[in-house]
Amino acid sequence: MSVSPRVIVVGAGPVGAVAGLALAAAGVPVMLLDARPRGAWRHDRRSLALSWGSRLVLERCGVWPGVARADPIDRVVVSERGMFGTMELSARELGVPALGHVVDYADLARSCAQALDAASVEVVHEARVEALAPLGDGARVSGPAGAWQAAWVLLADGAEGVDGGGVLQRTAHPYRQVALVGDVDCADLAPGTACERFAGRGPLALLPRAGRHACVWVMPQADASAMLLGSIDQQSRALTQAAGAVAGSCRWREPPAAVPLSLARTRTAPGSRVVPIGNASQALHPVAGQGLNLGLRDAWAIARDWPATADATSEQRHVARRLDGRRLDRSLTIGATDALARLTAVDWLPMRVARGLGIAALDAVPAVRRQVLSTLVFGA
Ligand SMILES: Cc1cc2nc3c(=O)[nH]c(=O)nc-3n(C[C@H](O)[C@H](O)[C@H](O)COP(=O)(O)OP(=O)(O)OC[C@H]3O[C@@H](n4cnc5c(N)ncnc54)[C@H](O)[C@@H]3O)c2cc1C
Repeated sequence: MSVSPRVIVVGAGPVGAVAGLALAAAGVPVMLLDARPRGAWRHDRRSLALSWGSRLVLERCGVWPGVARADPIDRVVVSERGMFGTMELSARELGVPALGHVVDYADLARSCAQALDAASVEVVHEARVEALAPLGDGARVSGPAGAWQAAWVLLADGAEGVDGGGVLQRTAHPYRQVALVGDVDCADLAPGTACERFAGRGPLALLPRAGRHACVWVMPQADASAMLLGSIDQQSRALTQAAGAVAGSCRWREPPAAVPLSLARTRTAPGSRVVPIGNASQALHPVAGQGLNLGLRDAWAIARDWPATADATSEQRHVARRLDGRRLDRSLTIGATDALARLTAVDWLPMRVARGLGIAALDAVPAVRRQVLSTLVFGA
């Protein structure tokens, strides 16, 4: 068995990396374990909308400067298919330079790895954790690559991570929806403009990305299967129709990839020395682009200013206080995202009218709109 660090972080994705960097900055001996080989992130085609708040966290951890390309989102146009009226959210309204940025998962993961190297944080790759066992004074994790123990384990292994046996209770509610993701060219969407369209049977987001737009189009599984059988011309025509006048003519650069969607949550017993964060704690529907933003806030809140004294009582107090502080933001973001996912999946005229009226009402009341915007950008 290897030397015991004080904290083991399982998963070196963006959330695990931020936790590791914040712990190292607090002077806490920390080690990261990741199932994949270094560089495996190269194959991830996801583009992510990161809020201004997430950028601040990544700046403080030294990750942001290494991100090669980040496209600012200056405004978001929200609309409902077949209804008049749109709502516009702008960075100016909130007094921030940008509402957020669109980055590639692969670019962000590479920059996280570099920041971990620069901070001399040990990361063991190809170390899949398959078992998790509580100990009186910590927890033990093990897998084919070895076994490690520490006073604390932060689980940042994403939605399909380790089976926690008696330590974790994982639940997953499939939405029976699929997200079609890929890059598209949109004739009428200016750089810096994102579009969120309630397209009838699911939401459609277009995010500005390197002179093109990254598309996340959610629809029922059966619709997606039929769509994927069509040619790229047919897929592009369907996208143009769904995206509406704001985007103009749209064209997929290559056939989209399909990602199944569910709401997954993990709970641990109170007082446990195993703390799930990021997607390991909650994996959300992408309708509001909040999954990683929420995960980064989790990681930063829990790991920042972790007591460097290796004293279990202060650590218990620290973790309990920080988890308490995260409760409102977590439940609000999870609840609002789930509600929005369900409301935007119903293609029924009265529901579409209600959504259209909701958009118009928000547009008409700047104070409420600013509050919604502020929560999306900084969390609750
Ligand atoms: C289509 C789509 C669009 C999205 N768009 C957005 C968006 O615009 N904005 C946003 O904020 N979020 C978005 N998300 C959500 C976002 O991708 C996730 O919230 C984010 O990737 C979670 O980061 P993480 O570090 O918790 O997990 P991951 O990124 O999944 O990283 C987990 C890490 O743990 C490792 N691991 C897994 N299992 C084990 C194991 N057993 N042992 C050791 N290591 C393990 C993996 O190798 C990986 O490196 C989107 C998601 C989808 C599917």
